[in-house]
Amino acid sequence: MRIRIADIKDDGLSLDLVEEVSNFSVLRELQEKGESVFSQPVTVHLRAVLVSGMVEVSGRVATHAEMVCSRCLKPAAAIVDSTFELTYTRELPELGDDGGDEGVEITAEDMGLILFDGEEIDLRDAVQEQVILALPVHPLCSRNCRGLCAQCGADLNEQECSCGPQDYNIKFAALKNFKIDK
Ligand SMILES: [Zn+2]
Ligand SMILES: [Zn+2]
Repeated sequence: MRIRIADIKDDGLSLDLVEEVSNFSVLRELQEKGESVFSQPVTVHLRAVLVSGMVEVSGRVATHAEMVCSRCLKPAAAIVDSTFELTYTRELPELGDDGGDEGVEITAEDMGLILFDGEEIDLRDAVQEQVILALPVHPLCSRNCRGLCAQCGADLNEQECSCGPQDYNIKFAALKNFKIDK
């Protein structure tokens, strides 16, 4: 997952990259824990252009993962397909020293830039971050999943249970007793 700076010509560089999930440390960990089982490698289509000494990379990252439904614990498919724009630079641009708070150090991150060294940009960390951001925090097997009964554990997608809405009443009572201090 690298871009060679020398390959970026005046009209830019287009690249298609494919990388196995096992080569991304955090994704591999998610896979080993069973939180996200990736059924496809990570693919990246990107375009890199040189703009006043910086490298602007825009593209699309895609993969496919099997997660666990946060309501009913059945498999939930998660399709990752998201666009990104990143700007890499060897050094931070000079800032004027007017108006800034003294002693506050501006980092590359503050400026939305990623520092790199040498003749290549390693995209692995940035691509991994894009995949993680695109994975749902609360995966769902379907938008209408009714989940499990909090009292008897029945899968409400498959059967009604006779527990009634007691759980909701408890939550509602707690809300009614909640006073906001002014
Ligand atoms: Zn579900
Ligand atoms: Zn129940």
